[in-house]
Amino acid sequence: MAITPESVLSSIVLLTEQRSQKHLEDCLTATLAELANLPFCGICTPMPTANGIFVDWAAIRSHDGANPSDELQEIGTDPLLLDCMAMGCERSETLADGGIRRAHPVIDDRGKVCAFLVTHTAPGQAEPSGLIKGFIAIYRNYLTILWDAARDTLTGLKNRKTFDENFSTIVAESRHIDVSFNGNRREAHLDGQHHWLGIIDIDHFKRINDTYGHIFGDEVLLLLSALMRKAFRAEDRLFRFGGEEFVVLLAPTTFLAAQAVFERFRATVEAFAFPDVGRITVSVGFVRIDCDDKPSVVIGNADRALYYAKAHGRNQVHSFEHLVAQGDLPFESPSLAKAKLF
Ligand code: GH3
Ligand code: MG
Ligand code: MG
Repeated sequence: MAITPESVLSSIVLLTEQRSQKHLEDCLTATLAELANLPFCGICTPMPTANGIFVDWAAIRSHDGANPSDELQEIGTDPLLLDCMAMGCERSETLADGGIRRAHPVIDDRGKVCAFLVTHTAPGQAEPSGLIKGFIAIYRNYLTILWDAARDTLTGLKNRKTFDENFSTIVAESRHIDVSFNGNRREAHLDGQHHWLGIIDIDHFKRINDTYGHIFGDEVLLLLSALMRKAFRAEDRLFRFGGEEFVVLLAPTTFLAAQAVFERFRATVEAFAFPDVGRITVSVGFVRIDCDDKPSVVIGNADRALYYAKAHGRNQVHSFEHLVAQGDLPFESPSLAKAKLF
């Protein structure tokens, strides 16, 4: 396709019709590969974890056979991306066929590299760098709008609308985890790594509103979300589900570590002096996530553990699997049978 004002405009129109980050990235790479006749155009994101920064390829248009791995890769395995991340500017290297591979950083509004646009040009082919920079700017601005729509306006945490999408991503990752344990679920969830979902609910929050007023209630919600950001790791996903109810999707860890992190958060809240309103407490119910789980079932089970905590004095953390194993929560449906494994 020739680069004409009309072709560029219709590409922008197409791009801004997209309503999810995934579709936006697919559309951007397809558009650029076609408009600029690039042998390769891809987008990947850096993902900070406890074990270093990993790179996750989101969208790829490849006509030259280059095929980055589906698996997460440590950023050090791709020196071009590592260099681009460190310098925060465009970096390039020569390919075996004489073409050029370039990594363009996408910088978010906090000045951090939030993605890389990677292009290949054929030997002797000039890259339309102005066009690519322009599209990166549109992508970044539009991504900010999509991110804002995914945030809770009071706390800045992810909102409930985005939960299902986040949950699906996590469940897809759980499949990889199960494989590494040879499908031996019993062993895997005793000392293996799993995703976990926790529901955190403020105890007697209505009293805070009733005693001090809604504005002070909002202040508590804001401070609690700040405590959550500190207590959980960057790779955990934090949501405000509505009202005074929060959800955490924990990155893979063991049962004992999940229990410890929720317990530490409960203790942090109990010890924190909230201005004006003093001490508040939270109750937490948490549950393991398996690769065949449905979000509604997982939420339902975490809720049952939460309500057990509410009914037994509040200011407590309970694991759904533990409660079922101890006979404290009756089996009510086949979906609960997995807890028997514990
Ligand atoms: P429990 O310990 O059983 O959880 O009791 P609770 O009072 O925390 O729970 P309940 O569900 O009875 O009350 C929740 C309250 O949260 C009621 C509602 O007025 C308040 N609320 C919901 N959304 C907001 C909000 O955005 N801001 C403020 N300030 N209050 C909110
Ligand atoms: Mg409450
Ligand atoms: Mg509640």
